[in-house]
Amino acid sequence: MKNVPFNNPPVTGEELRLLEAAIADGHLCGAGRFSGECEDWIAGAVGAPRAFLAQSCTAALEMAVLLAGIEPGDEVIMPSFTFVSTANAVVLSGGVPVFVDIRPDTMNLDEGQVEAAITPRTKAIFVVHYGGVCAEMDALSEIARRHGVMLVEDAAHAFGATYRGRPAGGLADLGCFSFHATKNIISGEGGALTIMSDDLVERAEIIREKGTNRSRFLRGQVDKYTWVDKGSSYLPSELTAAFLRAQLERAGDINADRVATWNAYNAALDGVEKNGLRRPVVPDYCEHNGHLYYLLAPDRDRRDAALAELQGKGVIALFHYVPLHSSPAGQRFGRMHGNLAVTDDVAGRLLRLPLWYGMDDAVRARVIDAVLALDV
Ligand SMILES: *Cc1c(COP(=O)(O)O)cnc(C)c1O
Repeated sequence: MKNVPFNNPPVTGEELRLLEAAIADGHLCGAGRFSGECEDWIAGAVGAPRAFLAQSCTAALEMAVLLAGIEPGDEVIMPSFTFVSTANAVVLSGGVPVFVDIRPDTMNLDEGQVEAAITPRTKAIFVVHYGGVCAEMDALSEIARRHGVMLVEDAAHAFGATYRGRPAGGLADLGCFSFHATKNIISGEGGALTIMSDDLVERAEIIREKGTNRSRFLRGQVDKYTWVDKGSSYLPSELTAAFLRAQLERAGDINADRVATWNAYNAALDGVEKNGLRRPVVPDYCEHNGHLYYLLAPDRDRRDAALAELQGKGVIALFHYVPLHSSPAGQRFGRMHGNLAVTDDVAGRLLRLPLWYGMDDAVRARVIDAVLALDV
């Protein structure tokens, strides 16, 4: 029997048609018709005045760092329990990631520990919505406002998720999405930056056009374009945007299908607690997008044994994350706030089950049966 892969990138069937249309248009570099349509779609979905496509969420995070004005020695508060890009973007500008622990229920930044980590050098708080379950944004917004620091969502997991009815990516000053092949909505590699304040829009446009005012030139607002600020090449091509356009059209279905698998797992695994496994916790004011389904084993040995046992049955489950504060680069470039006990604990016990768009009942049942048969 074939393995159940951990991930299986979604394809809607419309991608090729739109790629052909992009080729026929003859406009293959960035900022063309398909990019504009994707940006309008994303801004509309998030309730943001403006969205910019980027080559990745990593690129969107780098744009956020430039917009936040992070300079050498400036500090940015973030979880250690996240992907490297959240921290790397800060380090590239000479900033210092300050790692704060997560909550033991949602795996999101522990808002109760953030304020004590703020220093005169703090410029921003980067929050991650783990598994598409939003962090405690009301409390975090209040802290950011009180201290005059920028709040940025790393919403790589959270496209289509909501917090108290408001969409992820529209809950802070800036939002960063990923359309990497392992995320819900994809373009192979890809991302977007959402901007909630009109004041930052023009600067963002310059940053992603290599620090030039080329966008103003293309709109006829200046008669030649020139280098005006820091920037880089963050624009994706129209081929990427055309592919993404086809995916956005079906974003609601794709997310709903993932949520259906998530719900099927969660219902069938009701009772695994007595085997020492813990299911995800989702606050009732968070609507998630089925990005990932995880379980917590009682300890690292039993987690690793469970991963091996599932693999032996052809069910590819994975752990998450190696905490950034214990990675070589995290130790070199970052700083810990407190002992990060929850992060260390959870990282040793968490396992993620296969979850992708289009999983049928038989595949779901194979995963569920393998988990129920675990001897933890
Ligand atoms: C995937 C991911 C990223 C990076 O996304 P890319 O589009 O691959 O750059 C950043 N942060 C988190 C939390 C992620 O899961």
